[in-house]
Amino acid sequence: MSNITRAQFLRGGWGSNKKTVIRPPWSVTEDSFTDLCNRCGACLDSCPEKIIVNGSGKFPIIDFQKGECTFCQACANACQYRAFKPLSEKPWQITAEIKDTCLSKIGVVCQSCSEVCDQGAIHFSLQMGGVPDISLDNTQCNGCGACVSICPKNAIKISA
Ligand code: SF4
Ligand code: SF4
Repeated sequence: MSNITRAQFLRGGWGSNKKTVIRPPWSVTEDSFTDLCNRCGACLDSCPEKIIVNGSGKFPIIDFQKGECTFCQACANACQYRAFKPLSEKPWQITAEIKDTCLSKIGVVCQSCSEVCDQGAIHFSLQMGGVPDISLDNTQCNGCGACVSICPKNAIKISA
C-alpha cells in the first residue's frame, strides 16, 4: 500500500477492485480530480437535478438513477478548486449502452428510453412480424442519462 497516493487511499480506488465511476460533467481527468477536489460538496448543492452524490471518499459522482444531466454547468461553476475543465470543452466522453436485459431484446415491446432521449440516439427498426429491434447510436448520445432511470429492467449502462 506504500505506493498509493493520498487521494487513491481516500477514494478507495486502488488495487484490482477499482471501479470506473462517473464524475460530474467537465471534470478533469480522474487522477487530477481526486488531487484537486476538496470534497466541499459545492457541486452537489448546486445541481438542480440532484444527480451528484457523494461517492467513495466523499468525492462526487453522478447517479443517473436520480435523474438526467441537463448540462446546465452549475456544478462546474460552483467549484472553487479547479476540478473542472474549461466549459468550452466537451463535458465528458460517456455514452449509453443497451444491455441484454432490455425488454426489446427478449421480445417484449417497450420504447420508454427512446421516448425520453432528446438526442434521438435510440432507434427501433421494424422487424417482420416481430418486436422492433433496438439500437443505440453512440455518435448521437451525449451521455445525459435520461434513459437510465426510466428503464423498467435497468438495462441501460452509461460508461466511458
Ligand atoms: S451540469 Fe447541471 S444538471 Fe449536470 S450534473 Fe452539473 S449541475 Fe447537475
Ligand atoms: S444517455 Fe441521453 S442522449 Fe444518450 S441514449 Fe440515453 S437519453 Fe439519449
